[in-house]
This record gives sequence, structure tokens and C-alpha cells, in this order.
Amino acid sequence: MRTDERVLAYGGGWLDRAAALRADAERMTALRADPRTTVLPLWRDRSLVTADDRPVRLTGAAAGPVLAAADELVFLGLDADVAIFAVDLSGRAEADAVALAGAASAVDVRSLAGRLDPAEAATQAYARGLLHWHRRQRWCGSCGAPTTTRDAGHVRQCSAAECGGLLFPRIEPAIIVLVEAPGAPDRCLLARHAGASEGAYSTLAGFVEVGESLEDAVRREMAEEAGITLTDVSYQGSQAWPFPAGLMVGFRATAASEEVRVDGVELLEARWFTRDDLRARMAAGRPLGRVDSIDHQLLHGWLEEG
Ligand SMILES: [Zn+2]
Repeated sequence: MRTDERVLAYGGGWLDRAAALRADAERMTALRADPRTTVLPLWRDRSLVTADDRPVRLTGAAAGPVLAAADELVFLGLDADVAIFAVDLSGRAEADAVALAGAASAVDVRSLAGRLDPAEAATQAYARGLLHWHRRQRWCGSCGAPTTTRDAGHVRQCSAAECGGLLFPRIEPAIIVLVEAPGAPDRCLLARHAGASEGAYSTLAGFVEVGESLEDAVRREMAEEAGITLTDVSYQGSQAWPFPAGLMVGFRATAASEEVRVDGVELLEARWFTRDDLRARMAAGRPLGRVDSIDHQLLHGWLEEG
């Protein structure tokens, strides 16, 4: 069962990113001055929220102080025909940023999982990931000169005339895999990761390396971490995970054998679980992955099949 991309948190294509407008400086100036334009302030990877945990949205004169104080201003896109910008207030102390935005506090958008409107959660995550990238690309990695922002915050450029290198937001893909046993009864493989608490099991995952396809990464990670060879590998869906720069790509795979040999470094233990095992764990108060994660969707999708 493939994951429903509209169910997965932090994606969904809710905004028109209007990429063609980014390099249009005149249009950007006009949009910034439009009284309907909405400005979302963030502070150091956190959303600035009201007392009832709603992300602050500023328009018109109310947006003025935040725009004037912004360390970075990025154009996120259009919501219908209303422009949405995000501003970074990370250069200020937390209390100053909160006060400037008229917010009550600064919180991690993931802590609001399941409570925020999906479009709002996706927009906050997008803003967070893009602003995080800006804070870490202040200098050119090639010549060391300062970089400046361009294209409404979607590109940075080295300021040295002899270099002028362009930097684009980076995304770090990771694979996440629900591995099934080769024979009956139906079972899936869950592992206890290093650092996880006793009895905390989750699906297997890992980063894609340079020169690998996603499927190559699935096969390598499962071999390295759990000592298993896979017969088939199938794509299930992907999830934006800009915390700070991830893209989670979900797969289902079948193991060639039931024999598992964990590496003892990343994985401490891996076991086969039947659907009844998983239901018993849930009944005992152990949820299957974070509610906002593709991990959760992969496991619940599998559970619903039997
Ligand atoms: Zn440079």
C-alpha cells in the first residue's frame, strides 16, 4: 500500500511556489509592499506562535517592524494570489524575537504535530528549512568570501568578483524501509537503534551516499546494518523533512532470508514482528513511529493489509 502524500505531514504542495517570480525584483518589491502580503517570522528553527499555538501571520503595518529587523527575507510563494514571505529573526535574543513578532513563544513545528492545519505545518517546515540553509551558507565554500542572497532567497551567490559561485538550498535524502520476511506468517523487521530506549523499535533507515541510487542505498543500508539481502525493493512515497534538510524516501522490501545480523553500532537489535505483535505493542501504549512521520505511515499501511 502506497503512502498517501496528502496524509504525510510537511508536504502536499499547498503553496504555489511561483518560482518564475523569484528573479523578478520589481515584482518582489511590489509584493513586499502589498498590504495583503503575509509575513511569517521564525527564530532559530522555531516557529513564532500565539498563546494558542498558532503560527504568527503578519500583514500590512503589523509586518513592518519584523520586515525591518529581518536577518533574511525569503519568498515562499503564493497562497491563491497572496504572497507569503518568511523572515528570520535569529540574530536577536529569543525574547526580543518573540516580542517583535507579537508572539507568545518560539516552538519547534514538530511539537505541534497533528494540531496544526496540514498546509500551515508544511509552510512552517518549508520556511524553517530554507532559513536554516541561509544561516549556514554565509561564506563561499570555494573561496571563503561572504555570500549574498538573491532570487528572493532561493539562491546565494559568492560576493567575490573572481568567483561568483552560486549556492542552492541543499537537500539530504534518506531512505526508510519496511522490510518483510520471505515466508509465512507475515512479519516485518524492526530494530532498536543505538541511543533508543529499551523496547523502542522502529523501521530501518539511512542516508543516501554520493554515487548511489535510492534503491542502491536501500540495499546497502540493509546489508550493513542488519546483514540482510533484499529480493525486491519498491518505492512507497516520500516526505519532506526539512529538520534541517532531509527528504525521507519510503520503501518496502522483502528479505531473502530471515537471518538477521545487526552491526552493533547503529543497530543494537533487530527482530521480526507479526501484525499481532505490533497491535499488542500499540495496545500497551507504544505507538508505531512519530505520528507525523513516513515511518508511521509505512507501518500503519502494512498493518491495514492483514
Ligand atoms: Zn567564492
